Amino acid sequence: MQKTTRTMKAKKHIALVAHDHYKQELLQWTTENKQKLARHTLYATGTTGHLLSDATGLEIDSLMSGPMGGDQQLGSLIAQGKIDMMIFFWDPLNAAPHDPDVKALLRIASVWNIPVATNRATAHFLFDSALLDQEVDISIPDYEHYLANRT
Ligand code: PGA
Repeated sequence: MQKTTRTMKAKKHIALVAHDHYKQELLQWTTENKQKLARHTLYATGTTGHLLSDATGLEIDSLMSGPMGGDQQLGSLIAQGKIDMMIFFWDPLNAAPHDPDVKALLRIASVWNIPVATNRATAHFLFDSALLDQEVDISIPDYEHYLANRT
């Protein structure tokens, strides 16, 4: 796959998602990292976003609830290069009705090479990185080239 470069701005677009059993953990983490999060533009799936913004006062663009299409909305934003990082506390211990959407979201995040934290330890490492508040170049698929090769 031919690659090109996308530049993430210092002010990142960060998506926050937590499955039901992990919402309290994400809320705790969000509270601990409120000052850092406030410097960025925040998105979330519906229930997660309302919970976090009500509890912390952070401004969050809440999409639809995950199982109702929110995961797919987020995936669409990622494919358009509009999300720079995702904190996604998915539940590895309970079956989700929208498992295909969860898989699709994790898959598209890998396709577009955005940093994803699927648990609190990884979120801690990401938010401790100096890159969080710097402009960063990432390698992404060269979509124009990909399309030209197929048409
Ligand atoms: P929710 O969705 O924030 O609406 O609960 C999360 C998810 O299940 O993807």
